[in-house]
Amino acid sequence: MSEVTRSILRETFGYAQFRGQQQAIVDHVAEGGDALVLMPTGGGKSLCYQIPAIARQNAGQGVTVVVSPLIALMHDQVGALLEAGVDAAYLNSTLDWAATQDLERRLARAEVTLVYAAPERVVTPRFLELLDGLAARGKLALFAIDEAHCVSQWGHDFRPEYRQLTLLHERYPGVPRIALTATADALTRADIVERLQLEEACQFVSSFDRPNIRYAIAEKKEPMAQLLRFIEGEHAGEAGVVYCQSRKRVEEVAASLQGAGVNALPYHAGLDVAVRQKHQDRFLREDGIVVVATIAFGMGIDKPDVRFVAHLDMPKNIEGYYQETGRAGRDGEAADAWMAYGLQDVVNQRRMIDESPADEEFKQVMRGKLDALLALAEATDCRRVRLLRYFGEASSACGNCDNCLSPPEVWDATDAARKLLSTVYRVQQQSGIGFGAGHIMDILRGKVTEKVKQFQHEKVSTFGIGAELSEAQLRSVLRQLVATGAIAVNAERFNTLQLTDGSRAVLKGEVPVRLRESASAPAGRKPRTSKPRSERVAPAAAPLDAPGQALFAALKSWRAEVAKTHNLPAYVIFHDATLAAIAQRAPHTLDDLQGISGMGATKLEKYGEDVLRVCQQG
Ligand code: ADP
Ligand code: ZN
Repeated sequence: MSEVTRSILRETFGYAQFRGQQQAIVDHVAEGGDALVLMPTGGGKSLCYQIPAIARQNAGQGVTVVVSPLIALMHDQVGALLEAGVDAAYLNSTLDWAATQDLERRLARAEVTLVYAAPERVVTPRFLELLDGLAARGKLALFAIDEAHCVSQWGHDFRPEYRQLTLLHERYPGVPRIALTATADALTRADIVERLQLEEACQFVSSFDRPNIRYAIAEKKEPMAQLLRFIEGEHAGEAGVVYCQSRKRVEEVAASLQGAGVNALPYHAGLDVAVRQKHQDRFLREDGIVVVATIAFGMGIDKPDVRFVAHLDMPKNIEGYYQETGRAGRDGEAADAWMAYGLQDVVNQRRMIDESPADEEFKQVMRGKLDALLALAEATDCRRVRLLRYFGEASSACGNCDNCLSPPEVWDATDAARKLLSTVYRVQQQSGIGFGAGHIMDILRGKVTEKVKQFQHEKVSTFGIGAELSEAQLRSVLRQLVATGAIAVNAERFNTLQLTDGSRAVLKGEVPVRLRESASAPAGRKPRTSKPRSERVAPAAAPLDAPGQALFAALKSWRAEVAKTHNLPAYVIFHDATLAAIAQRAPHTLDDLQGISGMGATKLEKYGEDVLRVCQQG
């Protein structure tokens, strides 16, 4: 079987090699085995069912039914398959009556290789009748259930319609099934197996590492300026997503970026549906759009060349963070996950949990999850090791995160933390009311402000005992104390600081507090250096020289034209990497185009001449 599947990979998709576990999965399913595939975003799940579907159709076994939750996704996936010369179609409400009937006729004759449909469509009597007909003639080749975590309430996108899919196995026990998801945790996995009756299926679990994504978490100072520096410095003209907590922030940030000349568009649930759709389409179809969004944006975005995901506000937990950052770099090329976080994020997230109507037990779980994310943000060691450990995977320092690339200075803040807590305590004792962070820091640093005079806080015994500490250092101590629950910020009383049960151990010096040196602290810190992207993880090819660059640009604008005529995203025609490889080779004949990754037989036939023409003119 591997001969057959490998030749489909080469001929149809134009790829030289399978990635990771693809080959094992593809062969197992093509031979009629059931499979549960857990693979991170960008791992290459689609080929895991597309190649078996083609192999089985070629062997006379008929049609593969792909269950997919989103109509928007089906259109582009089917478009990509048609481009590669595979007979694929989708059946959904966007088809008119005539097109539906035509497709149904072709399906009944088993002429289609893959048909995509939403779960609620698959279980309609009309569709089942079609399947019955196919099954009776041995022409039902395979069921592929994409985004299989939707079947579980523990997954992040529970869709009750997925529950009805058990029907498929009961009705067509002889038809193999493959379920695929990028959701990692064990609870969800067990639930998928049970719900879809996949007990007998072979499980293929890949590492959840995304080695091409560089993780960096910066202290939030002037978030807009930091974001702009990040985008202009590392990702000018590239596609990316910026996540913010609220709709209002989304609007503000999008406007600021536009003002600075970035091609940015807002996206949140408060926008008109048509506007949202338009912005998403532009993001998918045009080059170099930055979408500024709430978390409403993302599900079903399988654009492969998103070069960065930035968080301007902290997500709720590591699952959310990993899922959102995972939308960067699906194509395996270098990408960045960048987050700015500060004290206010910690305060906000804690408050949201405290004020939620959930029961105490649930809140406790949420607090635990938040703490894990805070620990990641404050970490002074490898971010990736911590992320993977959270998902139950052991690894060693990655060399591709901010902490690995420029290890932060660490200082012992135990003493500073004690001074801070005892100031809070004494001021509360003396005045009978609480005070905010700014005032507490003024006292500690011995600043005689109006407020200090007003409350006679220069008489507090800790006044000035922290004069050697910078404000940045004290802020980071405070953040850590809030993060670990050793101090609370009372939102109902003007954000005043209050001691908690957790304060005592720190006050007594029982828990050491070790912190990353704040970037603005005076300590002799090495400047942060970032390698240019061309030197990053496994570059596919040597960087292009000047004529190569010009050719690459010409190919891109040719691709944009083609994509527009076909009403498809540009990457469906050719990936950037494919265009770069063409530019590198500067081909003269069709033969020169053979073997370029992403150049399958159909595309060579369809576009080969055009590509050569662009190359001659370039
Ligand atoms: P997932 O669904 O797991 O997020 P996709 O199936 O969308 O990932 O694949 C991610 C990208 O990797 C796609 O653009 C796909 O064309 C590419 N890809 C997948 N498998 C291979 C391979 N064996 N060689 C080269 N590129 C691949
Ligand atoms: Zn690292």
